[in-house]
Formats: sequence, structure tokens, C-alpha cells
Amino acid sequence: MNFRARKAAATRAVRALGADGLLVTHPADVRYLCGFTGSNAALVLAGGKSVLFTDGRYTLQAKNEALGTRVTIVSNRPVLPAACEWIVQTGIKRCGFDAAVTTVATLESLRKEVPARIRRSLFMALPSPVARLRQVKDSDEISKIRAAANLGCELFDDMLEYLRPGLTEIDVASTLEYRARQGGAEAMSFDTIVASGERSALPHGHASMAKLPRRGFVTLDFGVVLDGYMSDMTRTVHLGKAQASERDVYDAVLEAQEAAVAIVAPGVTAGEVDEAARSVLRRTGLDRWFTHSTGHGVGLEIHEGPRLGAKQTQQLEPGMVVTVEPGVYMPGQFGLRIEDMVLVTSGGHEILTPSVKAWIEL
Ligand code: ZN
Ligand code: ZN
Repeated sequence: MNFRARKAAATRAVRALGADGLLVTHPADVRYLCGFTGSNAALVLAGGKSVLFTDGRYTLQAKNEALGTRVTIVSNRPVLPAACEWIVQTGIKRCGFDAAVTTVATLESLRKEVPARIRRSLFMALPSPVARLRQVKDSDEISKIRAAANLGCELFDDMLEYLRPGLTEIDVASTLEYRARQGGAEAMSFDTIVASGERSALPHGHASMAKLPRRGFVTLDFGVVLDGYMSDMTRTVHLGKAQASERDVYDAVLEAQEAAVAIVAPGVTAGEVDEAARSVLRRTGLDRWFTHSTGHGVGLEIHEGPRLGAKQTQQLEPGMVVTVEPGVYMPGQFGLRIEDMVLVTSGGHEILTPSVKAWIEL
């Protein structure tokens, strides 16, 4: 893992924003920059140095994980005051922090730790510089995401043998999650969504005690965590013989999904990808039931930038990993969604979740 390059890139990014140091407290950002996975940490980049502050529970873990970063174990007080003390000692003028993940209370407590003369000037709110860097994955990250996505696809194929009417949604979710763990998953990326029958009209229908119907859709949306990196995929299958209207909606969602995937490439805006999906559904009036954005970045966290939503002007870049997941949800009737993870490559894109998307009737 190239933590040195990541820390150097973060340092350049904060300099460009007018700061000469950076305080990082968001766990995914800390992990990204130095490898430390513990829950209580502050990482400071300043004056060409990086120091990780954590507590005594993590002495061994920090030493093993945060290679190339100095580790300070803080005892008898929280880590932030210790980090502040060091920031002041470095003599830097402007220490950036991530405005999106730092509470007002935390900022106030940071300011209390520094001398009055620099209390108002030392800390500088920045627009998530590390989250922005994390949007573009390096080759280590891509191989980890690829492994997580592959496990997800294996699990889906496996579940096709298992799904049948009469099982509860929780039967399905728990079996999938058990098999995921057996396959090496550290955790699920989020609570597994199994939404069947009328419940398929719930975009985020967490698995319930409802039984899978003899005839109707089942939407599975799930992801696994491997080595910290997450996968995210959705497939919708039909149990029993479908009505023509169900098949029509499925075909429209699939066409929308494939149209959006097809245009993913460097320089294309997030909004254009969203519009590619939405415009297909608009042709048949189904867009009114497509009530969320088309996708999101995935990595150390399940929802990262870029957001693929209407009118988003951010351009895709090689190395970004995004989901493409249009859906149609008709309350009281049924719903469905199809979701892939897509890697933006220099020449266009690569689908990381190649499980079958063609109509499946079980
Ligand atoms: Zn999903
Ligand atoms: Zn998703």
C-alpha cells in the first residue's frame, strides 16, 4: 500500500487550499492515509511529517498497521488535545480539517487547546480533501474492490440455487450473510436488502419476516467487505410466472441501467450518466417512479463521491469506482432495481460485477 504517496497527495491538496497542515479524524480517511484501522485516532500531516495519535488499546495494532507513520500512544486524556499540542509545536499557521466530518463541538474543543493568539486562525475548514482523493482509486484499492465485487457475484450465483417461495426475507439475508462470512467477508457493507412481492416497491426494504411469494419479484441488494473495501450490487429475480407488465418494467430498468453503464468514461459528467438512465425510463413514463439518484462511489465506505445524480457536473476520472443502479418502485404493486459496480478506465469502463442481468424466472 502506498501510504507515502497518499500522504504526499493529501499534503499537496491541502496546500492548494491554503493550509500548511491537516488534521484527519474520520476513520476511513485515517485508514486511507496511513493504514491504521482502529476506532480512536487523529492523524496529523504537517511540516513533512505524519503522526498518528491513538490510545493504549491500539499500541500493537498501530505499530503493525501504520507503517511509515510515527505513532504516539496517548494515555490519560483524549487523542485530540495531544494532536493539538503537536500541531502548535510544529509552528504551522493554518491546519486544515474536514468541514464535512467535524462537529461544531469538536472544533470548539480543538480551539480551546491552542494559545489565544492563534485560536481563531489556526484551524481552517476544508472541503473534504481526503474524501476527494479517495474518489480516485489506486491499483491496490482497485484489486481489493475487485476481490470484494467477485465475492459478491459468487454469492449471488449461489443464492439463485437457494431462493424459493415460502422462505422469509430474513432466511435469505441470513443465508447470504453466512455464506459471505464463510467466503472470507469481514462484514457486510450494509444491512442486506431483501425485498419481495409488494415490498419490492421499497427502495431500501431491509429483510423482514415476510415470506417470498409464489409469484413476484425479489430484489437482493448487498455487499461484502474484504480488506476494508466494499462491494455493492443489486439483482432482481422473479419467482414464478411473471405478468407482461412486470416483464416490461424489468426490461425498461435493464435498458436504462445498460444505457447508463455504456456512457461511463473519463470526462463524462455524473449528471450525464444519471440522465442516460433516466431518459430511457422517461420514454415510458416510468421515470416518475425512479426516486433516487443513479449511483455513487464505493471504496472504504459504501457511499462515497462522486454522486451520480441529476445535474451533477463532476467529471468522471480513470480510477473512480461507481455504482449504476436505476430502479422503479410502484407503491402497492412492485419494484425492482439492477446495480453494478463500474470502474472508470482510461479507455471507458469495466463492469466489476458481471453476474447475469438478463431476466431470471425461478
Ligand atoms: Zn446496493
Ligand atoms: Zn449502491
